[in-house]
Amino acid sequence: MQYFSGNKIRLGILGAGQLGKMLGQAASDWHLHTLAMDASEDSPAKGYVTEFLKGNLTDYRDVLNFGRKCDVLTIEIENVNVEALYQLQKEGVSIHPSPQSIEKIRDKGIQKEFFLNHKLPSSPFRLYDNKEALETALQTQKEKFPMVVKLRTGGYDGKGVFIMQERTQLSDLPNVPIVVEDLVAIEKEIAVIAAKNTRGEIVCYDPVEMVFDPQANLVDYLLSPARISSTAIQEAKVLAEKTIATFDINGLLAVEMFLTKEGNLLINEVAPRPHNSGHHSIDACVTSQFQQHLRGVLNLPLGDTQIICPSLMMNILGADNFTGPVRYHGIDHILGLKGTNVYLYGKSNTKPKRKMGHITILDHKIENLQATMQYIKEHFSVVA
Ligand code: ADP
Repeated sequence: MQYFSGNKIRLGILGAGQLGKMLGQAASDWHLHTLAMDASEDSPAKGYVTEFLKGNLTDYRDVLNFGRKCDVLTIEIENVNVEALYQLQKEGVSIHPSPQSIEKIRDKGIQKEFFLNHKLPSSPFRLYDNKEALETALQTQKEKFPMVVKLRTGGYDGKGVFIMQERTQLSDLPNVPIVVEDLVAIEKEIAVIAAKNTRGEIVCYDPVEMVFDPQANLVDYLLSPARISSTAIQEAKVLAEKTIATFDINGLLAVEMFLTKEGNLLINEVAPRPHNSGHHSIDACVTSQFQQHLRGVLNLPLGDTQIICPSLMMNILGADNFTGPVRYHGIDHILGLKGTNVYLYGKSNTKPKRKMGHITILDHKIENLQATMQYIKEHFSVVA
């Protein structure tokens, strides 16, 4: 097979952040030839891929020139120049996820319409061109509080999502196209990572449970497997498989879902790439999400998703009030902890709540997982 011969396939990654870094590391297990592009020479993946090229991910020329050096192209971020990807597709570059599917996903409005048109369960929604249109809908009582307002593009990690209880909160909203969703009564938030290859094989990981920090509106920690019924686990996996098949995505699709108070599953959003909710798989599953993504995009047999050990994954976030060159305070206290692996992404500067790394803890008892996490929170911090 040509990936493993002297005449190696050149696999390009658009984006050289932590996801690109971990993809590059997984690719090195098979000694693949990888290239990554990003705007800064100081990107985490530089040094962990075969070739790093400096370029702007949203610039047509930069993406085109980079893609022309590659046989297969993938992404670690959806905000890339899609017009260049269409051109590269015409020129014969194999692109996964395809530009067609990136376009369906990166705009939350189009994503919601796709769910609706393909009978993939998701919360009821309405689209508005701008803030005035929403204000009119409120005046005419077509909308009412509470509601969830999301910017159609550009949001990430909860930025760009506004849970609104009253009119005064509208002042925080920028005047851009938005999706308004019904506020779901959520019992648990879960994520299922599915994988597909071009020959149509599909596998998925067991659901993980995302426990949110209510202040940061960012995942605080993540438990694998999720503490939900075996029926809900099965239903979530079937839904994730249906979702990746419907989008027809090769590689990974992370499917974030709400388990509602009534016991129904609704898709919140999807991401066609490795995802924060799959980091535990490096240590806690037979095949890591990064190696699985490579298998999917290179059309290789998919790997075993089985859980080796229950786990907890916590993000290492920059502490509040610290901005500047990073220092990992107290790392000596945590590197020796039982069942614990620490991953640092190599970002030179910290800022409040910036994702600087993650920690995976393995243990068969949930109380032990949470106790170790608590110890880490008390003894370790990211400061400047
Ligand atoms: P992002 O893409 O920035 O991660 P999400 O769409 O995942 O944004 O929303 C962030 C969080 O906001 C979700 O994890 C959930 O806690 C909450 N949320 C989003 N949509 C709804 C909804 N329709 N009802 C209730 N809560 C929601």
